[in-house]
Amino acid sequence: MNIFRTSNEMQQAALQLKRQGKTIAFVPTMGFLHEGHASLLREGRKRGDILVLSIFVNPIQFGINEDLDRYPRNWEQDCRIAEACGVDIVFAPGSADMYPPGFQTGITVRELSLPLCGSSRPGHFDGVATVVTKLFSLVQPDVALFGRKDYQQLAIIRRMTADLNLPVQILGMPIVREDDGLAMSSRNSYLSPTERQSALCLYRAVVRVRERYAAGERSAATLRDEALMVISREPLATIDYLELRDGSTLEPTQTADNGTLLALAVKLGQTRLIDNTLLGEEL
Ligand code: AMP
Repeated sequence: MNIFRTSNEMQQAALQLKRQGKTIAFVPTMGFLHEGHASLLREGRKRGDILVLSIFVNPIQFGINEDLDRYPRNWEQDCRIAEACGVDIVFAPGSADMYPPGFQTGITVRELSLPLCGSSRPGHFDGVATVVTKLFSLVQPDVALFGRKDYQQLAIIRRMTADLNLPVQILGMPIVREDDGLAMSSRNSYLSPTERQSALCLYRAVVRVRERYAAGERSAATLRDEALMVISREPLATIDYLELRDGSTLEPTQTADNGTLLALAVKLGQTRLIDNTLLGEEL
């Protein structure tokens, strides 16, 4: 497994691999890898001759009062997981390499970045879109894999890739959950044992809405109320947002249908967690 610390090394290697006719599969992450990341890597392994993993805690996608400084890291464990998943190249640049003095270019995906996480985290998706564009330019992937756990992020990256004619196929992968249903996330490591217990309310809300939908309920307001009720039973939980929206446009919807998105963000103490589901599709 090769480890590249600078964008120059990464891009030179990628261009050379492309000249040799190799295909490149790419999984961008912020590290502190778990089974969710591993599922992307294992699929990526099948999708390209060369599998590239990036580990970069991207400062421009964090707000000023967010967790950039304490975002969890574990380089040795990340390397072990990467090796086990058959990664060929780990790209782990520093912030100064990615954003040298004078950097001033950004990518904005306008409408899709406004609701949900975009409204609670202003500027977040500009930071994501910008770093993913840079990473695509450095890694030259034929296919890039993203988790549906970050549903809005995936929608934005798909839109951006189409709008900018980027020559990369975007693959969305299912949400990987703990045995009890909690969506895996590097940020779960922030939770105290009691918060970890309370965090199950996100999954319970998802399951409840799916059950009510399967039983024939189609009113978005009623389905939302069901989820609200589940979460309000958890005293440690405060809702950041809880919404039903069109799964493609992310526009609000009154009537739930197959492909309607339920998306929620909930805070347990200082930790903000997200989850989502597409109604009528597999969990
Ligand atoms: P992150 O390191 O949190 O930026 O995530 C890197 C990639 O892994 C993103 O495409 C995420 O959507 C994906 N990912 C994170 N958690 C999960 C999960 N529980 N299931 C599936 N994909 C995930």
